[in-house]
Parts: sequence; C-alpha cells; structure tokens
Amino acid sequence: MKVGVLALQGDVPEHRSAFEHLLGPGSVVLVRDRDGLAAVSALSIPGGESTTLSNLLDEAALRGPLTARIGAGLPVLATCAGLILLSRQLDPVPGGRDPTPIPMLDITVRRNDHGRQRESFEANVTVDGLSGPPFPGIFIRAPRILHVQGSTTAFARRGEEVVGVRSGPLWGLSFHPELSGDPRIHEQFLKETLGWDQAR
Ligand code: GLN
Repeated sequence: MKVGVLALQGDVPEHRSAFEHLLGPGSVVLVRDRDGLAAVSALSIPGGESTTLSNLLDEAALRGPLTARIGAGLPVLATCAGLILLSRQLDPVPGGRDPTPIPMLDITVRRNDHGRQRESFEANVTVDGLSGPPFPGIFIRAPRILHVQGSTTAFARRGEEVVGVRSGPLWGLSFHPELSGDPRIHEQFLKETLGWDQAR
C-alpha cells in the first residue's frame, strides 16, 4: 500500500516521516503529477499557504485529477492550508487573495483567524476515538472553522472550538499533527479510512 503526500509546497517532509514511521520506508509517494496521484491509496495535503498551493495545483495540472479522485472516495488527511483548500465556503478576509477551493468539506472557514505567525501556539485537542492523553495541537497562522454542515461532522475540538472535521474518508484539521511528533492521528486515519492494522 502506498500513501501519498501532495508535494507542491509546505510541510511535506513532516507528513512523509509521520507515515513512514508507521508504514515503513518506501511506503510514501511524493505526489507532484498525475502518475504519482494514480499510484496512491490515500493522500495527505500538508499545511503551507493555501493560495500558493491552489496556484501550484493548477500549474501541475493536478486540480482536475485530484478533484476526480477525491470525488471517487480517495481518503485525504488535509492539514491547515490543506483544510482551507477543501472548504466549501471561505469567509473572505478583506484585501486577501483567497485560493480557488476544491469544495469537498461542507464547512465555512476564515483564514488566519488566530492572529499572525508570531501568535502561533500549542494547545490540547480532544479527538473522538483517540485513546490516551489529549493531542498536542500545533496551530500556525491557523484558520478557524466557523460552520460545519451537511454530511461533514466535527471530530476534534480545542475547548468549544471545532478544529477537526470529517466527511467519510476526508479529514480536515486546522492544526498540524505532522509537526507534533505524536503519530496517533496519522495512525487513526490509516486505520479508519484504509482498514490498516499495525499488527498485520
Ligand atoms: N495561513 C495559511 C493560509 O491561509 C495556512 C497556514 C498553515 O498551513 N499553517 O493558507
């Protein structure tokens, strides 16, 4: 089984090592083109800068193929900029240049709503179905999830705030599990969307 990391921009190496830690060396494909995308059974869309990511998707001619694969049920773990890219509705930031979304998660999101880069922070997150202590959530110029609708549901929270949503095999997080050194979310994603079992 190969798992992909969309490798156009952002914290690609961190997602790669999180998956390789679980699945072993050689299990991750860095997806930069159609062939790479066709080779994977699941994909993570890393954090970075969502407008840049959106532009690079078009340059790589990947928007169409990625939209088609997600529509056909590809499991996706999207973090931060990745979450923004998959949101159905963006609450416009005055003067900002927003990305063109692949609107697959039925949520409304406001970008950069926790302040500037230097106001990035770490906070405990509770994730449904995760055993052990709260998850150490790293928030970097994070978006805020304002509304969750339809078949998309909340599954991770920081206090009252929703910080993780899912719609079937599509998972979106406003924080960065790939930066925390805690493999539990990547592990739960593989288990629940692909039926992966570490013991096998
Ligand atoms: N602020 C970025 C954006 O709006 C996302 C930040 C991140 O991915 N850490 O695209």
